[in-house]
Amino acid sequence: NYPELKGKVAVITGSSKGLGRAIAERYAKEGVHVVLNYRSSEDEMNKVIEGIEAAGGKAVAVKGDVAEEGLAEKMIETAVSEFGKMDIFVNNAGVQVEAKTHEMELDNWKKIIDTNLTGTFLGVRAALKYFVDHEIKGNIINMSSVHEVIPRPGYTHYAASKGGVKMFTKSVALEYAPNKIRVNGIAPGAIDTPINEETMQDPEEKKGLEALIPTHEIGRPEQIAAVAAWLASDESSYVTGATIFADGGLSLYPSFGPENK
Ligand code: NAD
Repeated sequence: NYPELKGKVAVITGSSKGLGRAIAERYAKEGVHVVLNYRSSEDEMNKVIEGIEAAGGKAVAVKGDVAEEGLAEKMIETAVSEFGKMDIFVNNAGVQVEAKTHEMELDNWKKIIDTNLTGTFLGVRAALKYFVDHEIKGNIINMSSVHEVIPRPGYTHYAASKGGVKMFTKSVALEYAPNKIRVNGIAPGAIDTPINEETMQDPEEKKGLEALIPTHEIGRPEQIAAVAAWLASDESSYVTGATIFADGGLSLYPSFGPENK
């Protein structure tokens, strides 16, 4: 636990399920007040809020699409009106849709880039504006992926978006280092969330995925939330512009591993 997180206020996009939800629940456990976000699933969102409140935490939600201008500002305004300030901004929302590149519809490409990369830009921009205007040494966390470095056939737009998140995170970290605003990324490997539902429900596919991961374990959302808690805490106070990989070794060129000799 990180006692210094108690009473801080965090905004987390795409937090009705998956990693965003796990981060929200971990932050709430740390005593962080959370402003959550969902696009359509109000019932799911309400359940997350009820769970947090039942455990003694404080949470509110804002409906909206991260690719639309204005959502991030609305979430920050909500943080300020409900909890008095904003300290941590987590750009988590992300999507993936499989397509062969030579057949990829422009709409598909745009949806992925708009959500994963432009959505991150819009969140970062709003958070920076708030931190700079109020001289707050704030904390920004961007959800990347191992596919910021591992190529991903069938999802080339996704890999392009996460490669973009990687360099955007580093560049922003450098630009705002004098303001003591920290900006870091998290690169999960394969984690058991709704985004991987199909794989998790197909025993053959699941086995294949486990075989690919050097530790042979698919990750749990709590393991990513733990990284998000550490990055928000003072324990990581000298870390900025970094991407923390939490991937069971997936980014370590597994084909060179001892089992493939
Ligand atoms: P998920 O599909 O379970 O949850 C994604 C959340 O984002 C959902 O709540 C969804 O409603 C929301 N969302 C999607 N598009 C949105 C939009 N335009 N506006 C607002 N909200 C939107 O996925 P997840 O596994 O929890 O993924 C979260 C993040 O982690 C994504 O950025 C994803 O790329 C990244 N990631 C996940 C994995 C994994 O294995 N699960 C691995 C690497 C990276």
